[in-house]
Amino acid sequence: MPHPKVTGRNVHTEILISRYKFMRNFVNTQDRAPKRVITISFASDTKQELCKISIGKKCCSLAEAYGILLYCNTFTDKEIKVVTENKALVQRLPKLFEKVFTLSFDQKPEDNEPEGKKAFVIFDTKKIAKILQSFGYDTKKVYAHHVNFAILEDDCCKASFIRGAFLAGGSVTDPAKRYHLELVTDHYNVNKETYSVLVELGFEAKNASRNGNYMAYFKQSEAIEDLLTTMGAPLAAMAVMNAKVEKDMRNSINRRVNCDTANLEKMVNASIEQVEAIRKLEASGSFENLTEKLKETARLRLSNPEASIAELAAMSDPPVTKSCLNHRLRKIVKLSDRKSDKT
Ligand SMILES: [Zn+2]
Repeated sequence: MPHPKVTGRNVHTEILISRYKFMRNFVNTQDRAPKRVITISFASDTKQELCKISIGKKCCSLAEAYGILLYCNTFTDKEIKVVTENKALVQRLPKLFEKVFTLSFDQKPEDNEPEGKKAFVIFDTKKIAKILQSFGYDTKKVYAHHVNFAILEDDCCKASFIRGAFLAGGSVTDPAKRYHLELVTDHYNVNKETYSVLVELGFEAKNASRNGNYMAYFKQSEAIEDLLTTMGAPLAAMAVMNAKVEKDMRNSINRRVNCDTANLEKMVNASIEQVEAIRKLEASGSFENLTEKLKETARLRLSNPEASIAELAAMSDPPVTKSCLNHRLRKIVKLSDRKSDKT
């Protein structure tokens, strides 16, 4: 912010500038975002909420298990492997597989294992064959995975499928940071076909590939809210909504503060100019020639360099209007300009 060119600043001006700097700093500190209580992970909280949904209808449970398998670590005719560090999913997985396929994992984490990544594995080919058959796969042929849409005819099953995909291969970013929800699979066709499932649910994902994986993702807060609700996580959806409101509010406060700072600069520049003008009039001896009203205003300004026009108007005795006071100050500046032109 360029101050007006001032030669030989006097004490008043210095005080004024230091007050201005103080105010400016004060305004700038208002700019900072409030500190947040950071949860361990928004994605993990969301998965926990999703896992609270009771394992219900057979059709939806099958669809959820399908989503998990197509988005998990390994799903071949030789091995199935789901790795997760989400405690709620660790609880849900064995129950879901028991209900849908009436079978258990060949390898699963012990109850007393420390926190961290846990693996659920099936390597019994008979079990794997049973699972493949329940999705309508021909177990004699080994091929690239495709989504069997026949399993996902109803909307309830489509939503459950997406929930499963999210639980195994999905993530959502803390909405306080940014808006991002993704579903990642290593099956090319599955990513393409999940896109269609999402479209049928009313969502249009963006697609990308990353390190040999395929990703459907969302960047719009509204879409993320709706998808979380569809999957069965209304609390997470609410958190996204709240973060959006908070962010919008902060932006509007920042706009206000910036605008106030600009006004403040204008005000301070004007005050500096007025104080300098009065000092000049005093130095040249013409201060005494001013009218009583102008003298009073000049004295008020000198003793209150940081006051606004409205404040100075109210301090005047008798009080005057803002425009009257403004007029007097302008006159003082004009008179001092005329003086300095002559010299
Ligand atoms: Zn269903």
